[in-house]
Amino acid sequence: MSVKLPEQTLAWGRSRSCIRELAEYAARRKAEIGAENVFDFSLGNPSVPAPDCVNEAIAELLTLDSVSLHGYTTAAGLLSLREAIAQNLNERFDARMSAYRLYVTCGAAAALAISLRAVLLPGDEVVVLAPFFPEYRVFAEASGGALKVVPPREGDFQLDETAFAAALSEKTKAVIVNSPNNPSGVVLSRGSLERMAEILRAHAGKTGSLPFLICDEPYRELVYGGVEVPYVPALYENTMVCYSFSKSMSIPGERIGYIALGADMPDWQEVYVSVMGAGRALGYVNPPSLFQRVAERCIGRIADVSQYRENRDLLCSSLRAVGFECIEPQGAFYLFMRSPEPDAMAFSERAKRHELMLVPGDDFGCPGYVRIAYCVPASQIERSRGALALLAREYGL
Ligand code: PLP
Repeated sequence: MSVKLPEQTLAWGRSRSCIRELAEYAARRKAEIGAENVFDFSLGNPSVPAPDCVNEAIAELLTLDSVSLHGYTTAAGLLSLREAIAQNLNERFDARMSAYRLYVTCGAAAALAISLRAVLLPGDEVVVLAPFFPEYRVFAEASGGALKVVPPREGDFQLDETAFAAALSEKTKAVIVNSPNNPSGVVLSRGSLERMAEILRAHAGKTGSLPFLICDEPYRELVYGGVEVPYVPALYENTMVCYSFSKSMSIPGERIGYIALGADMPDWQEVYVSVMGAGRALGYVNPPSLFQRVAERCIGRIADVSQYRENRDLLCSSLRAVGFECIEPQGAFYLFMRSPEPDAMAFSERAKRHELMLVPGDDFGCPGYVRIAYCVPASQIERSRGALALLAREYGL
């Protein structure tokens, strides 16, 4: 007799992430031939240290009363942390944010899962712009929604307005944007976001319902060359921001982030109540108590990301020098490179023969490209140049 389990959770549990598989393969190869001979660009794990403030805050916090330090907090997060976040957003973006529009979460992943759970009804559609973070599909489907994927604009990966407008339907409840983007490194321009806002408002004029715009922003502060990352709630009223300290403070394992409901969101109090209900339904109880206090003490402090910028420049020039084409990365720590053959999976397999771990774009809804995560020591990029040249030569570049 075999136990009956839900098909959906079985399917999610079984489906292997291409990224994890490649990272595991890289680990095996490192054990076999030495880490210095493997060029592992698979994982998006920060490679720069957390700002000093993080360890200092932890040391100081550990001298406090252990019972209250490690105890439960309010589900929405400590009021003092939410006040500090609101003040930070107001100083930087004139956001008109308040602690009562903020809900602290276990990183952006929980923020996204909770936001979708809070707004979706069964059968609702969630529009996402390709390339997109593969977990969106799981989070949306777990809340009864279905993804609708919009391809990027050829050439610069900004908004394809026509394709976006065509993807909207009576069932559209939310749109997810991720900028700076994983996996392309592209930052959506103010123009793209303004057009998106106009299209969504026009859609609401026809259907009577204004979709939520969910902004997934773990890479907000990882931008290079003074590129603007617009504050989206100022451009579109029905915006919820899903933020994370994982990358800005290099603390992804500590699980801390938040949901912010924009200052002009209609019915925000109702939405906030639903966010609290969703957090409860998903069993989060409260975000980590120690790291709420760390985040409060370190708010506004960012890890030194200059290494990512140097890596980006080195990688771009190395790839272009041997004939590969890539999308100009402006932020995050990923580069999206066009596969020289249409099948990016086949290209990734061929790259493995040169000990290069490049993630095919198929899982991100963007076949024909590979993702290169450059949150690695610069020496790895230097050492990989010979292998990249050999790979390029195989394609006659
Ligand atoms: N969204 C995107 C686009 C990401 O790349 C990641 C993590 O890599 C997440 C969300 C989840 O981040 P967190 O660690 O904050 O849960």
